[in-house]
Amino acid sequence: MSDADARTGRAGSNTDVDAVVVGAGFSGLYMLHRLRERGYDVQVYEKGDGVGGTWYWNTYPGARCDSESHIYCYSFSDEIRETWEWTERYPEQPEILEYLNYVADELDLRRDIAFEREVESATYDEDAGTWTVALADGEVVETRFFITGVGCLSEPFKPDFDGLDEFEGEWHHTSRWPDEGVDFSDKHVGVIGTGSTGIQFISETGGKAEHLTVFQRTPNYAVPARNRPLEDDEYEEIRANYDEIWEKARDSRLGMPFDHEHYSAASLSEEEIRETLEDRWQQGGFRFLHAFEPGHVLTNMEVNAVVSEFIREKIRAKVDDPETAEKLVPSDHPYGAKRPPMDYNDYYRTYNRDDVSLVDVSDDGEPIERVTARGIQTTADEYDLDVIVFATGFDAMTGAILAMDIEGRDGLTMQEKWADGPRTYLGLMTRGFPNLFTITGPQSPSVLTNMPLSIEQHVEWIEDCIGYMDEHGHDTIEPTEASETQWVTNTNMLADNMLFSEADSWYRGDNVPGKTAVFTPFPGGLDMYRDICDRVARDDYDGFEFSDAADAPLPEQ
Ligand code: NAP
Repeated sequence: MSDADARTGRAGSNTDVDAVVVGAGFSGLYMLHRLRERGYDVQVYEKGDGVGGTWYWNTYPGARCDSESHIYCYSFSDEIRETWEWTERYPEQPEILEYLNYVADELDLRRDIAFEREVESATYDEDAGTWTVALADGEVVETRFFITGVGCLSEPFKPDFDGLDEFEGEWHHTSRWPDEGVDFSDKHVGVIGTGSTGIQFISETGGKAEHLTVFQRTPNYAVPARNRPLEDDEYEEIRANYDEIWEKARDSRLGMPFDHEHYSAASLSEEEIRETLEDRWQQGGFRFLHAFEPGHVLTNMEVNAVVSEFIREKIRAKVDDPETAEKLVPSDHPYGAKRPPMDYNDYYRTYNRDDVSLVDVSDDGEPIERVTARGIQTTADEYDLDVIVFATGFDAMTGAILAMDIEGRDGLTMQEKWADGPRTYLGLMTRGFPNLFTITGPQSPSVLTNMPLSIEQHVEWIEDCIGYMDEHGHDTIEPTEASETQWVTNTNMLADNMLFSEADSWYRGDNVPGKTAVFTPFPGGLDMYRDICDRVARDDYDGFEFSDAADAPLPEQ
């Protein structure tokens, strides 16, 4: 029993721990730290054999983060930000992993993390007001709070092509890359997928394989990141201004502290818009999307058309062969309707190489029919390959939560509850599953923002909420039916007013066959979302209902 239990004597205080947290990435590490500092017993379970979450699993060549390094980190600790120094404008996967290991060591987190332990199921016991968490190795743990920190893009999606088991070469999904790496030097490599991952992989691998064949179903709008080393004096300036940087980031739509050149493009001529875009193109990365207020670009079709065409022209200018260039130019969706990828390594010029070729596997081209013993068979040809790389993404937002068998009140499973799409209040909780919190859960801003800031906001809100419950003798919390319905409706309405319905995307689950297509992240911005969450907490957790310890049977001591 923890100090917090001793204070409250509430139901559930005879559990093994106060909180089980699943996952030891940015979310799980910070949740552990905050709850432990407050006196709670916390146990983190992590499937991998180290901390890092996304950055533990995604070790494919070229893996790098699209958020700038000085904001892709925790803001809560002055000490960590004073002692850690990023080396490049955008952090590479090994450096982020090193950072998270550093944080785990600095905060002495490992002693409460069990590695290589997979949570298989969690079942709510209504009488006790507790969760029974079962691990894949058979261990069972009782906890009062069950908190998922499983990430939004962690359950790999791989298309179910016939014949893969007959393939005589090797195949890998980018997010399950072998520790020892893959030597491409004398190999014919085929990669399926040209999302953010595929684009990074292709730029990095082009020229390193005997031949690289890219199987592209939908072209994408990659904007140059303009990565470079961070200079010492530049880093000093960042440190000197960190408070201001974080304040600005927290107060923004995307959780990024970037100014817009103009809020809206409404009063500008097309020429002025293009000049602004050119300037931002040179700055690179998400600063391009901030040429105007990002929400403006994602709601105004006319402005978006200018932005989209601007990028198309840039693509055409980089690719020597006009036929290849046209295949690479997206025309099926507006910029931003899918998650915009970044270009770190002159992605489009990769296709000017003789040892890189592009196959259009869209319905208008030659769709993939199957994998054969020798390689990939499309409707037009068979491509001989030694290695197939699946850069085919994730069962996003809900996949990793639903991969656990979670059973709430009255035997209701999460799979049943979310069969027609996730239903949550604030993306933090779902009715029928008391005391279950989802860090960056569906219908929270998460993937539409700079993740560490969204994670910090969620973790701090959850910690405050648990503290509030104990101060007020509350045993359990869950959303009301009405607040949940309202939140789902609001999220959908906001998305309907933006351009997101113009593309098939993982934002809506379109990429996973059979998944109900519904827009999943909250698109109103981190700033608006934070205000809503703060107000809910200030109003004694308006929209949630509590059961009180006084109403519950007293725990055995
Ligand atoms: P993704 O964006 O879902 O891209 C998957 C790719 O695989 C798409 O090009 C898709 O084509 C293709 N694909 C899927 N099934 C296919 C099939 N049956 N036949 C042919 N092609 C198929 O996945 P991702 O690239 O892994 O990225 C997911 C998200 O992770 C990103 O959007 C981003 O949020 C995050 N991420 C971030 C970074 C970073 O920060 N640097 C890096 C990597 C990933 P369609 O487009 O036609 O569906």
